[in-house]
Amino acid sequence: MTHHHRYKTILLFGAPGSGKGTQGKILGAIPGFFHSSTGDIFRSLDLQSPTGRTVWDYTSKGKLVPDELTISIWKQYLQGMELINGFHPETEIIVLDGLPRSVAQAQILEQTIDVLKVIHLVADQAKMVERLRRRALKENRVDDASDEVIAKRFEVYMKQTQPVLEYYPDDKIVHINAAQSQIRVLSEIIALLVPLKESHDGHDDDQEPPQGTPLNAAQLVPSSVTA
Ligand code: ADP
Repeated sequence: MTHHHRYKTILLFGAPGSGKGTQGKILGAIPGFFHSSTGDIFRSLDLQSPTGRTVWDYTSKGKLVPDELTISIWKQYLQGMELINGFHPETEIIVLDGLPRSVAQAQILEQTIDVLKVIHLVADQAKMVERLRRRALKENRVDDASDEVIAKRFEVYMKQTQPVLEYYPDDKIVHINAAQSQIRVLSEIIALLVPLKESHDGHDDDQEPPQGTPLNAAQLVPSSVTA
């Protein structure tokens, strides 16, 4: 790492198909947030490279990539983004999607990330499996293509990933109903992030109106017009 502080981080948490990726991408487009998805990073690796091969051996079977390897790939990715000016750790909050996926990963990451909130997207398994089947067709993902691999991913989620929720203190976890429309899920997440982002930015500028107060029309008219 090129700086001394831990990265300010929001965790997007949920079973396969719960919508982490969809929401994460949108959140990452908001100024001041940086989305990073281990699934996306893994899928972008070169299959001809030894690392790419190793990772594929796990992901294609629905298994977790080993913890140390996962974290080292993610850290390299982040450092790369920092170097090319795509990620600004001093000002941006990371929206972390797909990491940590085991308690061991959560422990290793303790020295690297400062978890502000855990957003748990909750939906029933039948609904999520249905989404994964649709995604298999649309996005050409090998790990969604067979019911066997899908079942394996849910098994891995229950056994290895779900316990991560117990690792973080209750007051950091927010459960959101992921069966709602995408825009409603998004709006609930954003409602949660607004105060968090403002306090991260140290929003105490008294030039601005109190938070959440609508302006009236007179305040919006430029002074040159009224003078
Ligand atoms: P989904 O959103 O359907 O859960 P992802 O795109 O997040 O899928 O991840 C795809 C696959 O990549 C996982 O099934 C797993 O094999 C691997 N993977 C992603 N993140 C991690 C991680 N933190 N640790 C180990 N393996 C991971």
